[in-house]
Amino acid sequence: MDNSFSWPLSMTCAQRPGCMAGCSAVSNTGLAGDNITQNSGIQIAGLEKKYFNKKNFKGEIEPNFISLDLRPSNICNFKCRTCNDGFSTKWQEEKEDFYKINKNVLYFGKEKLSGVNKVNFKLNEASMKNIEILYFAGGEPFVLEEHFELLESIKEKKHISIMYNTNFSILKYKGKTIFEYLKDFRSVHFSISIDGLGEVGEFVRTGFDTKIFKKNFLIMKWAIDHYKNVSYDFQYTCSVLNSFNFFEFLEELGEDDDLINFHYIQYPFWYNTVNFDEAKNNTIKLFEEKLNTIVSDKLKSAILKYLEYLKNSKVTDWDKINAKKYLRGNVAHTLLFNDLELPEKLSFVNDLIVEKKNINLI
Ligand code: SF4
Repeated sequence: MDNSFSWPLSMTCAQRPGCMAGCSAVSNTGLAGDNITQNSGIQIAGLEKKYFNKKNFKGEIEPNFISLDLRPSNICNFKCRTCNDGFSTKWQEEKEDFYKINKNVLYFGKEKLSGVNKVNFKLNEASMKNIEILYFAGGEPFVLEEHFELLESIKEKKHISIMYNTNFSILKYKGKTIFEYLKDFRSVHFSISIDGLGEVGEFVRTGFDTKIFKKNFLIMKWAIDHYKNVSYDFQYTCSVLNSFNFFEFLEELGEDDDLINFHYIQYPFWYNTVNFDEAKNNTIKLFEEKLNTIVSDKLKSAILKYLEYLKNSKVTDWDKINAKKYLRGNVAHTLLFNDLELPEKLSFVNDLIVEKKNINLI
């Protein structure tokens, strides 16, 4: 591995609910559960012993990775509501606008944007010889030039499987489809982050366009037939903005429900359903009523865990008041900085955030 190859420590996908797919996708392989992503000079005794086990003739320790978890940049073309500027450069534009008009209320104007985090991730041939799995997350991997350069630089592709955590909005790079760049790898798996279709999905994941998604999905179906090495699944993250819509989403998507990896938001807390009594009760009711329509045991068990979480979490009045206050602010800013109307299907949000007997605040 080149000396220049290092990881920004701030990038852990657990902090980024909309793209948390990566953790589960890779840990399913049993290979990356130890989080071998960080090569930033920090000594992790167990890992060093396990993965750096040879010395070359110069006495340098050589890596013996078979799986690499690559998060080379926070460059992203989306700004999903539950994400933040640390993981998406697109988010930074909105946050910058926000700071312009909120200078005096936030840290006295000293709040900083995360900026672009980009890693020079050229891998030398020796580093690649044992690699069997490459996992890419971001930002969005398919906006990143260096990601394609890396793919092209790998000479022996046949033994490598690639997994992506992607917002699935970009299927082309420099006039070629992404499938062309990927056709010689052993297998390519797309974990598609999606939190709804239509106005719900588009509101939750700012930048998501249902028409583009449907078009890209059709192209992927063709690619599966054509290239034979392509597969996919979905990463769905449930929040107060979309929980009511989950079963509608499943129906409209029309895919095998075993392909859905179901996650739920805890942070940011103002999108966590548990902090809104009415939404919580409605969600419990809806999910209990519809549970028997789910075929997949995996999805059923994830939903049961969510129900357990909703029913058993202790929430204080402080949590509830602040969740309401912050949701109000965040929804207002979303509408303001994106020049949006609150979608019809999300009109219930008004009831969640408005102080009773007061004038509508958004
Ligand atoms: S697509 Fe971009 S904005 Fe959305 S969760 Fe992923 S990194 Fe964040």
